[in-house]
Amino acid sequence: MLNRIDLRESPPVPGGIDRDLLPRAEFDVEAALEKVRPICEHVRHHGTAALIEYAERFEQVAIERTRVPAEALRRALAELDPAVRAGLEESIRRARLVHRDQRRTDSTVRVVPGGTVTERWVPVERVGLYVPGGRAVYPSSVVMNVVPAQEAGVGSLAVASPPQREPGNDWGAGLPHPTILAACALLGVEEVHAAGGAQAIAMFAYGTGECAPVSLVTGPGNVYVAAAKRLLKGRVGIDAEAGPTEIAVLADDSAEPGLVAADLISQAEHDVLAAAVLVTPSVALADAVDAELRARVPAARHHGRIAEALGGRQSGTVLVRDLEHGLAVVDAYAAEHLEIMTEDAARVAARVRNAGAVFVGPYAPVSLGDYCAGSNHVLPTGGCACHSSGLSVQSFLRGIHVVDYDRQALAQVAHHVTALAEAEDLPAHGAAVRARFEATATPAAVP
Ligand code: NAD
Repeated sequence: MLNRIDLRESPPVPGGIDRDLLPRAEFDVEAALEKVRPICEHVRHHGTAALIEYAERFEQVAIERTRVPAEALRRALAELDPAVRAGLEESIRRARLVHRDQRRTDSTVRVVPGGTVTERWVPVERVGLYVPGGRAVYPSSVVMNVVPAQEAGVGSLAVASPPQREPGNDWGAGLPHPTILAACALLGVEEVHAAGGAQAIAMFAYGTGECAPVSLVTGPGNVYVAAAKRLLKGRVGIDAEAGPTEIAVLADDSAEPGLVAADLISQAEHDVLAAAVLVTPSVALADAVDAELRARVPAARHHGRIAEALGGRQSGTVLVRDLEHGLAVVDAYAAEHLEIMTEDAARVAARVRNAGAVFVGPYAPVSLGDYCAGSNHVLPTGGCACHSSGLSVQSFLRGIHVVDYDRQALAQVAHHVTALAEAEDLPAHGAAVRARFEATATPAAVP
């Protein structure tokens, strides 16, 4: 069922593992750039009118404005299925518990007597949160974007999600999906826009008559969303260019093949581009997981896209010599989600260096993290977990260094500043320090 990549005999290469041998989703953001450039320019110059045009073109739905009326948010919450409401409330409660704890406190270091540097953490003033809504709708992504922004103390936040043609009720056509509206209402979000794809990111970056520009855009999305983020980065801050979802499972003979298969299927369900990778030293487990997949996939509701994702080049079983080799492989792969299904899973998990999130043992499936673990599900994909983290309170804060030196403290270091400034051929830098002392003439203090 899964492609097999046998690394058991592969010779070591500099860095340990040849990343090119590992499966990886194709996500050609570069190619999408040319498509989204005119979209972003059009929104820049024509604002809401452009967004109305793109709703018609991409969602085949007529809208008159992007801003969702408050009444629609109230109504969506009132009509929300009680079981979904209870699930969202628990998801929010747990996410708040975890994210509240991430808030850094300001710290002051006394470098010398009279000289301090304080790091002050200040929330971004206004943020735009993108919630995908093309092929599937993700109220859970509302929670994962909004909770850290709120816990960081962001003062103004706006959510955007594509307008729906068939929302499943008789009043919501042209608005984001009612479950997304309800999740926003539960979280107290008042500004929601019916806007999808690259045009939503451009709306946030440039602003329109209905949406003031933001300083930072976060949230997952498809390749057009990622391309718009890449294009507009700088004009606006971005969290990451999230690609298709990925799961890697590091498992040995102790793993239950049915659970491994269920978890691979759960992530393949997202998208035909989703990647599901099993890394194991056990051929017996690999065979058993294949058998489970063959039995389970046809019975799955979204069996078509699951089969395509599992059969694609981005998915596969990687056979390794032993768990040590497996750890090197999963570190090289740097999965968005990594499950450890081995003997002594916590000990193995503690050795992982690169992953967006690690799920330890048989009772911590990725689906738990997608909804209700308390952790964030907006995580680095495409190998970016080797240098980036998932969305957190920190994503919405900036650390400002506040430098406070008195005369004596500056005098003590002035000659070093002058020497370094001269070495960089920037004599005005040194002069700026000396000027403090020349003007008020305390010769003993001049270096
Ligand atoms: P989406 O909301 O990201 O994109 C829909 C928009 O794409 C449409 O509104 C339209 O504007 C635009 N679009 C579609 N075709 C286009 C074209 N030909 N040219 C220009 N624009 C076009 O929804 P989606 O497509 O369902 O993708 C969601 C993605 O987000 C999936 O890959 C999913 O796996 C991912 N996701 C990731 C996470 C995470 O936390 N990492 C969570 C949820 C979803």
